[in-house]
Amino acid sequence: MSTTPLAINASVVSLLQCPICHHHLNSHEATFACESCQAIFPIVDGIPVLINESNSLFSLNDFIHHRTTTFQDTKFSSIKNRIKSLLPTLGRNIKGPENYQKLIDHLLEQAPSPVILIIGGGIIGEGMEILTKDSRIQLVETDVSFAPRTQMICDGHDLPFGDQSFDCVIIQAVLEHVVDPYRCVAEIHRVLKLDGLVYAETPFMQQVHMGCYDFTRFTHLGHRRLFRYFREIESGAVCGPGMALAWAYRYFLLSFCEHPRIRQFVYYFSSFTSFFLKYFDSHIINSPGTLDAASGYYFMGRRSEKPICDREIIQLYRGLQKT
Ligand SMILES: [Zn+2]
Repeated sequence: MSTTPLAINASVVSLLQCPICHHHLNSHEATFACESCQAIFPIVDGIPVLINESNSLFSLNDFIHHRTTTFQDTKFSSIKNRIKSLLPTLGRNIKGPENYQKLIDHLLEQAPSPVILIIGGGIIGEGMEILTKDSRIQLVETDVSFAPRTQMICDGHDLPFGDQSFDCVIIQAVLEHVVDPYRCVAEIHRVLKLDGLVYAETPFMQQVHMGCYDFTRFTHLGHRRLFRYFREIESGAVCGPGMALAWAYRYFLLSFCEHPRIRQFVYYFSSFTSFFLKYFDSHIINSPGTLDAASGYYFMGRRSEKPICDREIIQLYRGLQKT
């Protein structure tokens, strides 16, 4: 029996549902058990693992045995990763901080103490620090890896929460890593309250990262269509073309070499010779041309019962390519 206290608080436990059949879960020793389909879900070091194995890249045993899933817990990080953390970064999230402030303002207008689900929240995302400092906000931080902020293991394809549970869902740099982003967004829609808010940041011009767990990219309009069951509050580029160029340059150089040591050297070399490109992004992040060339886009919207139609979506094109 686990002696570690649960990483989620009691109010979140009351929102939990079986990720397989959506029935009630009962807490029993170091597990949660579904009272309908009888599925048993472990609690590992206080962290509930609520995965529908038949529809996930991950199994319950991956977490019971602490296998590496999408990334390793930082406490197991190698010296190589620590050196990497000292290098100048190629990326810069330009719009994130102001977007999260706007999101908080919208949320507090409609609820005095909003509850936010973060999908992929094991490590705090760029610009999200402001959310952790506001005591009025409750964060439910989920991931498919054990990480410093993981409160619960769950998969975005089958969220283990009841309908209309949350005031807001945040999903930053995750939808490229899921096999079915449309299903994940349908799940976000389901667990949001009727006037709930979604905030997503998703890459467009970024090379493969996280190896085998990388599946999809979205243009600005493709991202809008992904969230077609939401009314747009605001959208645009979040990371700019300078960052996209630096990434492309790094991966171009890496394409010439296979040996791990040489690749490591090229990785470091590319950091020192292209990190400055991201600083151009501050000047062009809101330009129309950036909507054709950004490293990534954001979408902030409110849950709607009616989708935006595709003919309306193409009217929203704000880039510079004439057709
Ligand atoms: Zn069940």
